[in-house]
Amino acid sequence: MAKADIKSMTLAELQQFLAEQGEPKFRAKQLFSWLHEKQVDTFAEMTNLSQKLRQSLSEQAKIGGVEMVERFVSKEDGTRKYLFALENGSIIESVLMRYEYGNTVCVSTQAGCRMGCRFCASTLDGVERSLTAAEMLAQVYTIQKDLGAHISGVVLMGSGEPLDNYDQVLRFLHLINDENGQNMGQRHITLSTCGLVEKMYALSEENLQITLAVSLHAPNDAIRKQIMPVAKAYPMEQLLRTCADYVAHTKRRITFEYAMMQGINDSDACARELAERLQGMLCHVNLIPMNPVKEREYTKSSKERVARFAHILQQHGIETTVRRRLGSDIDAACGQLRRRYMQK
Ligand code: SAH
Repeated sequence: MAKADIKSMTLAELQQFLAEQGEPKFRAKQLFSWLHEKQVDTFAEMTNLSQKLRQSLSEQAKIGGVEMVERFVSKEDGTRKYLFALENGSIIESVLMRYEYGNTVCVSTQAGCRMGCRFCASTLDGVERSLTAAEMLAQVYTIQKDLGAHISGVVLMGSGEPLDNYDQVLRFLHLINDENGQNMGQRHITLSTCGLVEKMYALSEENLQITLAVSLHAPNDAIRKQIMPVAKAYPMEQLLRTCADYVAHTKRRITFEYAMMQGINDSDACARELAERLQGMLCHVNLIPMNPVKEREYTKSSKERVARFAHILQQHGIETTVRRRLGSDIDAACGQLRRRYMQK
């Protein structure tokens, strides 16, 4: 029988799991604290549990984790990029970003991705598998340990489409937010999606305080369909209506991500059209100078183009920022380390 994935369990589920073995309720809290507060990787370290219980736990349960295979540290700004192996040998990437206001980890939710965005490296070979909540948590816990400093924020912007792994991602959000564990504030968490409409409605019903980021990357369907296959399933009008409904329901401002690709989506006309479509919505546009991917034809817009695009949006009253590039000396951006490693 497969071992129980106890690190993906809520406190209530752990109580149930332990009750089935005749253990009192308070044991679950102890176990939860070992897993999510002290963040140990072995049962042997759980010294306030009896030998007998530790023994039976190690027979019936596993502590899902990730194994570090490589680490790159930027000398410029302390950014760290990690390659982790999962239990089945799949490789994922995670990134540590150091900001003045705290340390943030960019977490992968799937090994690979099946959304097929034409400018993205993570989707080139499709999806291998979705990650468990434990494996997402382990990225944060392992990096926190390696860094020796507290991780205060998470962005679900690594490989994978978070809403294509909805249940485990929701579990992850609740577990990392739990006050008996990492206790990360929901407002320090951003979930990025290419725009899976039904799942966005489901997410809005969860009443979370997280930030939703939507990968828009285009001002209209004609351009969006060229670069994002998901646009064929959900036209922009439907997507933007969903975003407006999300804002109305959650009262949370939405972020639109817009990767600037030279000659594709970066003209003045694109900026004006985008501004018009976002008019009146509680939102914020984050312009990302596109990271060139060697297998892809797209190149990044010039600095001047990005600045001009931002200026037009701002003139139209759309709050806009340009994403700063971190760790450029350990480049190999967005999913390319993983590919490089797998092709070795
Ligand atoms: N599947 C989610 C999370 C993916 S990664 C989503 O689509 O939002 C986070 C962001 O990086 C997305 O906005 C994605 O479109 C963007 N991205 C992917 N490849 C990129 C590249 N080569 N350059 C710049 N941004 C990229």
